[in-house]
Amino acid sequence: METSKKITVKWNGTEYVINDLQNSDTLQILKARIYEETGVRPDRQKLLNLKCKDDEQTIEKLNMKPGFKIMMMGSREEDIAEASKAPENMKEVINDLDTEQEEEVELENMEVHLDKIKKRIETYKVEVLNPPRENKKLLVLDIDYTLFDHRSVASSGIELMRPYLHEFLTRAYKHYDIVIWSATSMKWINEKMKLLGVTDNPNYKIAFHLDCQAMISVYSKERGLIDVKPLGVIWGKFPAYSPRNTIMFDDIRKNFIMNPGSGLKIKAFREAHLNRDKDTELLKLAHYLEQIADVDDFQTLDHRKWQDYKKK
Ligand code: MG
Repeated sequence: METSKKITVKWNGTEYVINDLQNSDTLQILKARIYEETGVRPDRQKLLNLKCKDDEQTIEKLNMKPGFKIMMMGSREEDIAEASKAPENMKEVINDLDTEQEEEVELENMEVHLDKIKKRIETYKVEVLNPPRENKKLLVLDIDYTLFDHRSVASSGIELMRPYLHEFLTRAYKHYDIVIWSATSMKWINEKMKLLGVTDNPNYKIAFHLDCQAMISVYSKERGLIDVKPLGVIWGKFPAYSPRNTIMFDDIRKNFIMNPGSGLKIKAFREAHLNRDKDTELLKLAHYLEQIADVDDFQTLDHRKWQDYKKK
């Protein structure tokens, strides 16, 4: 039986009540309702404590209990126009300053987070597409803005693919098992990978995909509640992988806040139509992966300085 529910949105210190939501309503519908209440356009709404940001996901799947309170960030158009002409991605740049080292370590070890990771290890189902190979290292890749510019307008999805994607994956696959981990739903990950020609590529194979359900929320003193991708979930399920042999690429540093030593923050690939001809990031990263492929323990590396790495 379907009953309607009430959800509260907290934005700029005020609470807005959204009534009469159905379990079958999608996130997109919820965002439209929030727009009615707050005047913040759906694409500007940052819903902080939602694990899944996929618009097609239903309220039921999002696991929002009646009375659930969503924390929102975002601005009304008129306020943005008035405030400044700062570029849209300014905020992210500021958030990503390399000043969080200490906090990261603290988060990594907090008991409550380790419990959440344990729960994911026990309950999250991984569909193995291609079994892990012996003596390979592990490369974990984000999708949006890492392999694919998911926001720009283009006549076909393939135009939004980061240049050299297939060459990059082919070279990486020689030494690494490859896992895709994106903060969307599995349905979209599968579709994007198919669209990009990754799924059936004859030159490399993907071990498995992980989606937003494998992520956990952690509380950061500086950033509030954030959703992150803890590598401990993979390490717990596949003991051959560990901090010694795992590296993760993401354009958002906070995604690997639990495993700062294993993460490499790459340059985001945005505005595909402008950058398609000059972005060579994946070639450089493929080279780095090859250079470090025989390093016995990745914990001895500093991925922040990857561009200066010289093979010993
Ligand atoms: Mg990304």
